[in-house]
Amino acid sequence: MPDQLIHDRLQEKSIILMDGATGTELQRRGFELQSPGWSATAIREAPEILLSIHHNYVGAGAEILTTNTFRTHSRNLKETIWANDARQLTIDAVAIARQASNGLAYLAGSIAPLEDCYSPELTPSESELEAEHALMIENLLAAGVDFLLCETQITIREASILATLCQRSRAPFMISFTCGRDGKLLSGESLAEAVKSVMCFGPEAILVNCIPIDEVLPALQEIHKTAPEMVLGAQANTGRLVSNGTWESTEGEYPAVYAEFAMTWKEFGARLIGGCCGTGSQHIKFLNETVCVD
Ligand SMILES: [Zn+2]
Repeated sequence: MPDQLIHDRLQEKSIILMDGATGTELQRRGFELQSPGWSATAIREAPEILLSIHHNYVGAGAEILTTNTFRTHSRNLKETIWANDARQLTIDAVAIARQASNGLAYLAGSIAPLEDCYSPELTPSESELEAEHALMIENLLAAGVDFLLCETQITIREASILATLCQRSRAPFMISFTCGRDGKLLSGESLAEAVKSVMCFGPEAILVNCIPIDEVLPALQEIHKTAPEMVLGAQANTGRLVSNGTWESTEGEYPAVYAEFAMTWKEFGARLIGGCCGTGSQHIKFLNETVCVD
């Protein structure tokens, strides 16, 4: 971990560069992401690729590395050969990120929705969410992450339970929402209501992630209206999902275009900037050379 706590680093006014995607980078390097283990399988089957992805992000200037723990809840692993290994896989994923960081980057413990992150209707009951996320948080903190990053949140129920549990853990945490062009979470609930439901628990920042580049600014404006003092952040995709469920690339594929959009997020006041699906170390390097320069 860098010398300063993440909370203190956030008090400074400069941009904090996050990393880019892990899942799509694994694919780009020939590692096939397959159900049911998805990106978690790489911890066992391709740790060297994972290490190299993290390492390239540090080389590109990322100050925050996101651990590859998006799919290491026991619920996600139950149909794999690692059904009982959620804790060990989480610890190993964090260790790989720590090795790549070599003390230069903060380790953000990634926590995803328990079920598919594009299917809010599958969100489990309150008691399941509480029990399973509590275990995940315990595993990440045992593994030694610097803070908790609850990503790709698509329902108020899950995000607010996560915020409660994170606060209870006393670890610093951030909440990142995925919303649509209409300013609503995928559940149909309003982003403003979602922000209200988590801000009272004291997140270090509220972000948006996994949305197209042109949808970031309106979402940040919405969050700012509801929580004017909140530190803001964004990690966008290089494409968008179209109505028939397929993926369509946008100009965000080009690091220079991505950075142009990111500059508008910075000008609006966002402090944490990185990338989500489709972004790679070239995006992060370009952001470092442009958006991170005063
Ligand atoms: Zn994404």
